[in-house]
Amino acid sequence: MQLTEEHIELRRSLEKFIDHEINPHVDDWEREGRFPAHELFRKMGDLGFLGINKPEAYGGLGLDYSYAAVYCETLGRISCGGVPMAIGVQTEMATPALARFGSDELREEFLAPSIAGEKVACLGVSEVGAGSDVASITTTAVKDGDDYVINGGKMWTTSGAQADWMCLLANTGDGAPHRNKSLLCLPMKTRGVTVARTLDKLGMRSSDTAQIHFENVRIPQRFRIGEEGMGFTYQMAQFQEERMYAALSSLIFMQDSIDETIAYTRERRIFGKPVLDHQAVHFRLAELQTELESLRALTWDAVERYCGGEDMTKLASMAKLKSGRLSRELNDACLQYWGGMGFMEENHIVRRFRDGRLASIGGGADEVMLSIISKYMGTLPGRSV
Ligand SMILES: Cc1cc2nc3c(=O)[nH]c(=O)nc-3n(C[C@H](O)[C@H](O)[C@H](O)COP(=O)(O)OP(=O)(O)OC[C@H]3O[C@@H](n4cnc5c(N)ncnc54)[C@H](O)[C@@H]3O)c2cc1C
Repeated sequence: MQLTEEHIELRRSLEKFIDHEINPHVDDWEREGRFPAHELFRKMGDLGFLGINKPEAYGGLGLDYSYAAVYCETLGRISCGGVPMAIGVQTEMATPALARFGSDELREEFLAPSIAGEKVACLGVSEVGAGSDVASITTTAVKDGDDYVINGGKMWTTSGAQADWMCLLANTGDGAPHRNKSLLCLPMKTRGVTVARTLDKLGMRSSDTAQIHFENVRIPQRFRIGEEGMGFTYQMAQFQEERMYAALSSLIFMQDSIDETIAYTRERRIFGKPVLDHQAVHFRLAELQTELESLRALTWDAVERYCGGEDMTKLASMAKLKSGRLSRELNDACLQYWGGMGFMEENHIVRRFRDGRLASIGGGADEVMLSIISKYMGTLPGRSV
Protein backbone atom coordinates (compact mmCIF):
# COMPACT_ATOMS: atom_id res chain seq x y z
CA MET A 1 0.00 0.00 0.00
CA GLN A 2 1.28 3.44 -0.93
CA LEU A 3 1.94 5.42 2.27
CA THR A 4 1.90 9.21 2.22
CA GLU A 5 4.12 11.70 4.03
CA GLU A 6 1.31 11.99 6.63
CA HIS A 7 1.41 8.25 7.31
CA ILE A 8 5.18 8.40 7.74
CA GLU A 9 4.87 11.41 10.05
CA LEU A 10 2.32 9.56 12.21
CA ARG A 11 4.67 6.58 12.41
CA ARG A 12 7.62 8.79 13.36
CA SER A 13 5.78 10.60 16.12
CA LEU A 14 4.43 7.37 17.61
CA GLU A 15 7.89 5.79 17.44
CA LYS A 16 9.29 8.77 19.30
CA PHE A 17 6.58 8.50 21.93
CA ILE A 18 7.20 4.77 22.39
CA ASP A 19 10.95 5.27 22.71
CA HIS A 20 10.58 8.02 25.33
CA GLU A 21 7.41 7.26 27.25
CA ILE A 22 6.93 3.49 27.05
CA ASN A 23 9.98 1.34 26.35
CA PRO A 24 12.16 2.77 29.17
CA HIS A 25 9.47 1.60 31.67
CA VAL A 26 8.52 -1.77 30.25
CA ASP A 27 10.91 -3.83 32.39
CA ASP A 28 9.44 -2.31 35.59
CA TRP A 29 5.85 -2.73 34.38
CA GLU A 30 6.48 -6.36 33.45
CA ARG A 31 7.84 -7.00 36.95
CA GLU A 32 4.94 -5.18 38.60
CA GLY A 33 2.32 -7.06 36.56
CA ARG A 34 0.57 -3.91 35.36
CA PHE A 35 1.29 -0.60 33.71
CA PRO A 36 -0.28 2.73 34.75
CA ALA A 37 -3.01 2.81 32.11
CA HIS A 38 -4.54 6.14 33.16
CA GLU A 39 -1.22 7.96 33.20
CA LEU A 40 -0.07 6.53 29.87
CA PHE A 41 -3.39 6.88 28.08
CA ARG A 42 -3.69 10.51 29.15
CA LYS A 43 -0.36 11.24 27.48
CA MET A 44 -1.39 9.31 24.37
CA GLY A 45 -4.76 11.05 24.29
CA ASP A 46 -3.11 14.47 24.46
CA LEU A 47 -1.16 13.58 21.31
CA GLY A 48 -4.20 12.22 19.45
CA PHE A 49 -2.99 8.61 19.40
CA LEU A 50 -6.19 7.15 20.85
CA GLY A 51 -8.56 8.36 18.17
CA ILE A 52 -6.77 8.04 14.85
CA ASN A 53 -9.83 7.01 12.81
CA LYS A 54 -12.47 8.06 15.30
CA PRO A 55 -14.92 10.92 14.55
CA GLU A 56 -13.56 14.44 15.01
CA ALA A 57 -16.78 15.40 16.83
CA TYR A 58 -15.59 13.27 19.78
CA GLY A 59 -11.96 14.34 19.71
CA GLY A 60 -10.72 11.83 17.14
CA LEU A 61 -8.54 12.69 14.16
CA GLY A 62 -11.16 11.44 11.67
CA LEU A 63 -8.53 9.76 9.45
CA ASP A 64 -9.20 6.66 7.35
CA TYR A 65 -8.30 3.12 8.40
CA SER A 66 -4.92 3.18 6.63
CA TYR A 67 -3.68 5.56 9.36
CA ALA A 68 -5.07 3.31 12.09
CA ALA A 69 -3.18 0.47 10.41
CA VAL A 70 0.08 2.41 10.53
CA TYR A 71 -0.62 3.14 14.20
CA CYS A 72 -1.34 -0.54 14.99
CA GLU A 73 1.76 -1.69 13.16
CA THR A 74 3.93 0.86 14.98
CA LEU A 75 2.64 -0.32 18.38
CA GLY A 76 4.64 -3.48 17.63
CA ARG A 77 7.73 -1.41 18.43
CA ILE A 78 6.84 -1.60 22.13
CA SER A 79 9.22 -4.06 23.72
CA CYS A 80 6.52 -6.30 25.21
CA GLY A 81 3.10 -7.59 24.17
CA GLY A 82 1.09 -6.55 27.24
CA VAL A 83 1.12 -2.76 26.89
CA PRO A 84 0.27 -2.66 23.16
CA MET A 85 -2.48 -5.22 23.77
CA ALA A 86 -4.14 -2.95 26.34
CA ILE A 87 -3.73 0.07 24.03
CA GLY A 88 -5.27 -2.05 21.28
CA VAL A 89 -8.22 -2.85 23.54
CA GLN A 90 -8.76 0.88 24.08
CA THR A 91 -8.72 1.83 20.39
CA GLU A 92 -9.38 -1.27 18.26
CA MET A 93 -11.46 -3.62 20.43
CA ALA A 94 -13.68 -1.82 22.96
CA THR A 95 -14.56 1.35 21.05
CA PRO A 96 -15.16 0.66 17.30
CA ALA A 97 -18.81 -0.40 17.79
CA LEU A 98 -19.49 2.57 20.06
CA ALA A 99 -17.98 4.94 17.49
CA ARG A 100 -20.08 3.39 14.72
CA PHE A 101 -23.43 2.70 16.36
CA GLY A 102 -23.55 4.58 19.68
CA SER A 103 -25.97 7.47 20.20
CA ASP A 104 -24.45 10.96 20.30
CA GLU A 105 -25.10 11.10 24.04
CA LEU A 106 -23.33 7.77 24.62
CA ARG A 107 -20.37 8.74 22.48
CA GLU A 108 -20.07 11.98 24.40
CA GLU A 109 -20.10 10.08 27.69
CA PHE A 110 -17.83 7.12 26.87
CA LEU A 111 -16.08 7.59 23.53
CA ALA A 112 -14.86 11.18 23.91
CA PRO A 113 -13.10 10.54 27.28
CA SER A 114 -11.63 7.28 25.93
CA ILE A 115 -10.14 9.13 22.97
CA ALA A 116 -8.84 11.82 25.34
CA GLY A 117 -7.28 9.12 27.53
CA GLU A 118 -9.35 10.19 30.53
CA LYS A 119 -11.19 6.88 30.70
CA VAL A 120 -9.73 3.39 30.33
CA ALA A 121 -11.90 0.94 28.42
CA CYS A 122 -12.11 -2.84 28.54
CA LEU A 123 -13.99 -5.40 26.50
CA GLY A 124 -16.26 -7.97 28.17
CA VAL A 125 -17.06 -10.75 25.74
CA SER A 126 -15.42 -13.96 27.02
CA GLU A 127 -16.82 -15.78 30.05
CA VAL A 128 -15.68 -18.69 32.16
CA GLY A 129 -17.84 -21.02 30.05
CA ALA A 130 -17.76 -19.22 26.70
CA GLY A 131 -14.73 -18.00 24.74
CA SER A 132 -14.62 -19.36 21.19
CA ASP A 133 -18.37 -19.91 21.19
CA VAL A 134 -19.40 -16.29 21.73
CA ALA A 135 -23.07 -17.03 21.06
CA SER A 136 -23.20 -19.19 24.20
CA ILE A 137 -22.44 -16.44 26.75
CA THR A 138 -24.78 -16.51 29.74
CA THR A 139 -24.49 -12.99 31.23
CA THR A 140 -27.92 -11.39 31.15
CA ALA A 141 -29.16 -7.81 31.11
CA VAL A 142 -32.87 -7.84 31.92
CA LYS A 143 -35.07 -4.79 31.45
CA ASP A 144 -36.57 -3.29 34.58
CA GLY A 145 -38.31 0.06 34.09
CA ASP A 146 -35.83 2.30 32.27
CA ASP A 147 -32.87 0.15 33.35
CA TYR A 148 -31.09 -3.07 32.58
CA VAL A 149 -30.21 -5.31 35.52
CA ILE A 150 -27.06 -7.30 34.76
CA ASN A 151 -26.05 -10.64 36.27
CA GLY A 152 -23.22 -12.97 35.34
CA GLY A 153 -19.54 -12.37 34.81
CA LYS A 154 -16.64 -11.98 32.38
CA MET A 155 -13.32 -13.74 32.20
CA TRP A 156 -9.82 -12.76 31.00
CA THR A 157 -10.77 -9.08 30.78
CA THR A 158 -7.74 -7.08 29.66
CA SER A 159 -7.35 -3.91 31.78
CA GLY A 160 -10.32 -5.17 33.83
CA ALA A 161 -8.74 -4.14 37.14
CA GLN A 162 -8.05 -0.56 35.98
CA ALA A 163 -10.84 0.15 33.52
CA ASP A 164 -13.46 2.88 33.97
CA TRP A 165 -15.96 1.26 31.65
CA MET A 166 -16.58 -1.98 29.83
CA CYS A 167 -18.00 -2.59 26.40
CA LEU A 168 -20.13 -5.49 27.56
CA LEU A 169 -21.83 -8.18 25.51
CA ALA A 170 -24.89 -9.53 27.32
CA ASN A 171 -28.08 -11.42 26.56
CA THR A 172 -30.92 -8.90 26.53
CA GLY A 173 -33.58 -11.28 25.23
CA ASP A 174 -34.57 -14.92 24.92
CA GLY A 175 -34.51 -15.35 21.16
CA ALA A 176 -31.99 -17.03 18.86
CA PRO A 177 -28.42 -16.68 20.23
CA HIS A 178 -27.28 -14.45 17.35
CA ARG A 179 -30.19 -12.06 17.81
CA ASN A 180 -30.70 -11.88 21.57
CA LYS A 181 -27.57 -9.94 22.54
CA SER A 182 -26.73 -6.28 22.97
CA LEU A 183 -23.56 -4.29 23.55
CA LEU A 184 -23.73 -2.07 26.62
CA CYS A 185 -21.46 0.61 28.08
CA LEU A 186 -21.00 -0.42 31.69
CA PRO A 187 -19.27 1.97 34.13
CA MET A 188 -17.02 -0.26 36.23
CA LYS A 189 -17.71 1.72 39.41
CA THR A 190 -21.40 0.75 39.31
CA ARG A 191 -22.63 -1.05 42.40
CA GLY A 192 -22.58 -4.84 41.93
CA VAL A 193 -19.51 -4.88 39.65
CA THR A 194 -16.58 -6.58 41.35
CA VAL A 195 -13.11 -7.53 40.23
CA ALA A 196 -13.17 -11.12 41.50
CA ARG A 197 -9.45 -11.61 40.89
CA THR A 198 -6.56 -10.52 38.73
CA LEU A 199 -5.13 -13.45 36.85
CA ASP A 200 -1.52 -14.60 36.83
CA LYS A 201 -0.37 -15.36 33.31
CA LEU A 202 2.28 -17.03 31.15
CA GLY A 203 2.93 -13.78 29.27
CA MET A 204 1.57 -10.29 28.60
CA ARG A 205 2.63 -9.70 32.17
CA SER A 206 2.52 -5.89 32.15
CA SER A 207 -1.18 -5.95 31.24
CA ASP A 208 -3.65 -6.72 34.00
CA THR A 209 -6.20 -9.41 33.20
CA ALA A 210 -9.23 -9.79 35.45
CA GLN A 211 -12.24 -11.89 36.19
CA ILE A 212 -15.29 -9.70 36.76
CA HIS A 213 -18.55 -10.52 38.53
CA PHE A 214 -21.90 -8.78 38.07
CA GLU A 215 -24.58 -9.03 40.71
CA ASN A 216 -27.78 -7.08 40.12
CA VAL A 217 -25.88 -4.31 38.35
CA ARG A 218 -28.28 -1.58 37.30
CA ILE A 219 -27.57 0.71 34.34
CA PRO A 220 -29.92 2.86 32.27
CA GLN A 221 -31.11 1.40 28.97
CA ARG A 222 -29.70 4.43 27.21
CA PHE A 223 -26.24 2.89 27.82
CA ARG A 224 -27.01 0.35 25.10
CA ILE A 225 -24.93 0.71 21.92
CA GLY A 226 -27.23 0.87 18.89
CA GLU A 227 -30.17 -1.44 18.48
CA GLU A 228 -31.24 -4.06 20.96
CA GLY A 229 -30.52 -7.59 19.73
CA MET A 230 -27.74 -6.43 17.40
CA GLY A 231 -24.89 -6.95 19.87
CA PHE A 232 -23.64 -10.19 18.36
CA THR A 233 -23.54 -8.65 14.89
CA TYR A 234 -21.82 -5.48 16.16
CA GLN A 235 -19.28 -7.56 18.08
CA MET A 236 -18.49 -9.73 15.05
CA ALA A 237 -17.78 -6.52 13.10
CA GLN A 238 -15.71 -5.14 15.98
CA PHE A 239 -13.67 -8.37 15.97
CA GLN A 240 -12.36 -7.46 12.50
CA GLU A 241 -10.48 -4.46 13.87
CA GLU A 242 -9.24 -6.62 16.74
CA ARG A 243 -7.91 -9.27 14.36
CA MET A 244 -6.28 -6.73 12.09
CA TYR A 245 -4.71 -5.14 15.16
CA ALA A 246 -3.32 -8.55 16.17
CA ALA A 247 -1.76 -9.14 12.75
CA LEU A 248 -0.46 -5.59 12.25
CA SER A 249 1.08 -5.23 15.70
CA SER A 250 2.89 -8.56 15.33
CA LEU A 251 4.93 -7.46 12.29
CA ILE A 252 7.55 -5.24 13.96
CA PHE A 253 7.39 -7.41 17.08
CA MET A 254 8.58 -10.39 15.04
CA GLN A 255 10.98 -8.35 12.92
CA ASP A 256 12.70 -7.28 16.13
CA SER A 257 13.08 -10.95 17.12
CA ILE A 258 14.86 -11.67 13.83
CA ASP A 259 17.02 -8.53 13.96
CA GLU A 260 18.09 -9.06 17.56
CA THR A 261 18.85 -12.71 16.82
CA ILE A 262 21.02 -11.74 13.86
CA ALA A 263 22.90 -9.22 16.03
CA TYR A 264 23.44 -11.74 18.83
CA THR A 265 24.44 -14.68 16.65
CA ARG A 266 26.84 -12.50 14.68
CA GLU A 267 28.79 -11.81 17.89
CA ARG A 268 28.50 -15.20 19.58
CA ARG A 269 31.09 -17.69 18.31
CA ILE A 270 30.85 -21.49 18.31
CA PHE A 271 33.16 -24.03 16.67
CA GLY A 272 35.49 -21.31 15.43
CA LYS A 273 32.98 -19.00 13.77
CA PRO A 274 29.90 -16.88 14.57
CA VAL A 275 26.69 -18.83 15.24
CA LEU A 276 25.17 -16.91 12.33
CA ASP A 277 27.74 -18.21 9.86
CA HIS A 278 26.50 -21.77 10.29
CA GLN A 279 24.32 -22.40 7.27
CA ALA A 280 21.47 -23.96 9.26
CA VAL A 281 21.16 -20.69 11.19
CA HIS A 282 21.23 -18.09 8.42
CA PHE A 283 19.10 -20.28 6.14
CA ARG A 284 16.49 -20.64 8.89
CA LEU A 285 16.46 -16.90 9.51
CA ALA A 286 16.06 -16.35 5.76
CA GLU A 287 13.05 -18.68 5.77
CA LEU A 288 11.49 -16.85 8.70
CA GLN A 289 12.10 -13.47 7.08
CA THR A 290 10.34 -14.76 3.95
CA GLU A 291 7.37 -15.93 6.04
CA LEU A 292 7.21 -12.56 7.76
CA GLU A 293 7.22 -10.72 4.42
CA SER A 294 4.31 -12.93 3.27
CA LEU A 295 2.36 -12.04 6.40
CA ARG A 296 3.16 -8.35 5.89
CA ALA A 297 1.87 -8.49 2.30
CA LEU A 298 -1.31 -10.36 3.28
CA THR A 299 -2.03 -8.00 6.17
CA TRP A 300 -1.52 -4.83 4.15
CA ASP A 301 -3.55 -6.26 1.29
CA ALA A 302 -6.42 -6.63 3.80
CA VAL A 303 -5.92 -3.01 4.91
CA GLU A 304 -5.94 -1.73 1.33
CA ARG A 305 -9.09 -3.65 0.42
CA TYR A 306 -10.86 -2.51 3.58
CA CYS A 307 -9.97 1.10 2.82
CA GLY A 308 -11.43 0.50 -0.65
CA GLY A 309 -14.75 -0.51 0.91
CA GLU A 310 -14.43 -4.31 0.69
CA ASP A 311 -15.39 -6.75 3.45
CA MET A 312 -12.09 -7.77 5.05
CA THR A 313 -13.40 -10.64 7.20
CA LYS A 314 -11.73 -13.43 5.23
CA LEU A 315 -8.36 -11.71 4.84
CA ALA A 316 -8.39 -10.41 8.43
CA SER A 317 -9.02 -13.97 9.65
CA MET A 318 -6.21 -15.28 7.45
CA ALA A 319 -3.83 -12.59 8.68
CA LYS A 320 -4.72 -13.30 12.33
CA LEU A 321 -4.27 -17.04 11.80
CA LYS A 322 -0.93 -16.63 10.04
CA SER A 323 0.28 -14.11 12.59
CA GLY A 324 -0.51 -16.47 15.49
CA ARG A 325 1.15 -19.46 13.88
CA LEU A 326 4.18 -17.51 12.72
CA SER A 327 4.64 -15.88 16.16
CA ARG A 328 4.91 -19.31 17.70
CA GLU A 329 7.28 -20.63 15.06
CA LEU A 330 9.45 -17.56 14.65
CA ASN A 331 9.96 -16.60 18.29
CA ASP A 332 10.70 -20.21 19.22
CA ALA A 333 13.18 -20.65 16.35
CA CYS A 334 14.94 -17.37 17.15
CA LEU A 335 15.12 -18.14 20.86
CA GLN A 336 16.89 -21.42 20.05
CA TYR A 337 19.86 -19.57 18.55
CA TRP A 338 20.39 -17.61 21.76
CA GLY A 339 21.26 -20.82 23.60
CA GLY A 340 21.21 -20.35 27.38
CA MET A 341 20.85 -16.59 26.95
CA GLY A 342 17.52 -17.31 25.28
CA PHE A 343 16.28 -18.51 28.65
CA MET A 344 17.36 -15.39 30.52
CA GLU A 345 14.78 -12.77 31.46
CA GLU A 346 17.16 -9.94 30.53
CA ASN A 347 16.76 -10.68 26.81
CA HIS A 348 13.63 -9.53 25.01
CA ILE A 349 13.44 -12.72 22.99
CA VAL A 350 12.16 -14.40 26.16
CA ARG A 351 9.28 -11.93 26.41
CA ARG A 352 8.45 -12.24 22.72
CA PHE A 353 8.43 -16.02 23.02
CA ARG A 354 5.88 -16.03 25.83
CA ASP A 355 3.83 -12.96 24.80
CA GLY A 356 3.57 -14.12 21.19
CA ARG A 357 1.90 -17.34 22.31
CA LEU A 358 -1.39 -15.57 22.99
CA ALA A 359 -1.83 -14.67 19.32
CA SER A 360 -3.12 -18.16 18.48
CA ILE A 361 -5.67 -18.04 21.33
CA GLY A 362 -6.91 -14.51 22.15
CA GLY A 363 -9.42 -12.65 19.99
CA GLY A 364 -10.49 -15.92 18.35
CA ALA A 365 -8.31 -19.03 18.42
CA ASP A 366 -6.66 -20.38 15.25
CA GLU A 367 -9.48 -22.91 14.87
CA VAL A 368 -12.09 -20.13 14.96
CA MET A 369 -10.17 -18.36 12.18
CA LEU A 370 -10.10 -21.62 10.20
CA SER A 371 -13.89 -21.94 10.59
CA ILE A 372 -14.42 -18.41 9.27
CA ILE A 373 -12.06 -18.95 6.34
CA SER A 374 -13.79 -22.27 5.55
CA LYS A 375 -17.13 -20.48 5.63
CA TYR A 376 -15.88 -17.99 3.06
CA MET A 377 -14.49 -20.88 0.99
CA GLY A 378 -17.89 -22.59 1.10
CA THR A 379 -16.38 -25.67 2.72
CA LEU A 380 -17.75 -25.39 6.26
CA PRO A 381 -20.48 -28.04 6.41
CA GLY A 382 -23.90 -26.45 6.25
CA ARG A 383 -22.62 -22.87 6.28
CA SER A 384 -21.31 -20.43 3.72
CA VAL A 385 -21.25 -16.66 3.47
C1 LIG B 1 -4.21 -12.65 28.22
C2 LIG B 1 -5.61 -12.73 27.72
C3 LIG B 1 -6.32 -11.57 27.48
C4 LIG B 1 -7.65 -11.64 27.03
N1 LIG B 1 -8.36 -10.47 26.92
C5 LIG B 1 -9.70 -10.55 26.66
C6 LIG B 1 -10.51 -9.37 26.73
O1 LIG B 1 -10.03 -8.26 26.97
N2 LIG B 1 -11.84 -9.49 26.52
C7 LIG B 1 -12.44 -10.70 26.25
O2 LIG B 1 -13.63 -10.75 26.04
N3 LIG B 1 -11.68 -11.83 26.17
C8 LIG B 1 -10.34 -11.79 26.40
N4 LIG B 1 -9.58 -12.93 26.37
C9 LIG B 1 -10.24 -14.23 26.10
C10 LIG B 1 -9.86 -14.83 24.77
O3 LIG B 1 -10.42 -14.10 23.71
C11 LIG B 1 -10.34 -16.30 24.82
O4 LIG B 1 -9.45 -16.98 25.70
C12 LIG B 1 -10.35 -16.95 23.47
O5 LIG B 1 -11.38 -16.43 22.68
C13 LIG B 1 -10.52 -18.48 23.57
O6 LIG B 1 -11.62 -18.80 24.36
P1 LIG B 1 -11.48 -19.88 25.55
O7 LIG B 1 -10.29 -19.52 26.32
O8 LIG B 1 -12.76 -19.99 26.24
O9 LIG B 1 -11.16 -21.23 24.79
P2 LIG B 1 -12.24 -22.32 24.38
O10 LIG B 1 -13.36 -21.66 23.69
O11 LIG B 1 -12.50 -23.20 25.56
O12 LIG B 1 -11.42 -23.15 23.29
C14 LIG B 1 -10.34 -24.01 23.67
C15 LIG B 1 -9.59 -24.38 22.42
O13 LIG B 1 -10.46 -25.14 21.57
C16 LIG B 1 -10.01 -25.00 20.23
N5 LIG B 1 -11.15 -24.67 19.36
C17 LIG B 1 -11.91 -23.56 19.36
N6 LIG B 1 -12.85 -23.62 18.40
C18 LIG B 1 -12.68 -24.81 17.77
C19 LIG B 1 -13.33 -25.47 16.68
N7 LIG B 1 -14.35 -24.90 16.03
N8 LIG B 1 -12.86 -26.67 16.30
C20 LIG B 1 -11.83 -27.24 16.94
N9 LIG B 1 -11.17 -26.67 17.96
C21 LIG B 1 -11.59 -25.48 18.38
C22 LIG B 1 -8.96 -23.89 20.21
O14 LIG B 1 -7.67 -24.46 20.12
C23 LIG B 1 -9.15 -23.23 21.56
O15 LIG B 1 -7.95 -22.63 22.01
C24 LIG B 1 -8.24 -12.89 26.77
C25 LIG B 1 -7.51 -14.06 26.97
C26 LIG B 1 -6.23 -13.99 27.46
C27 LIG B 1 -5.50 -15.28 27.71
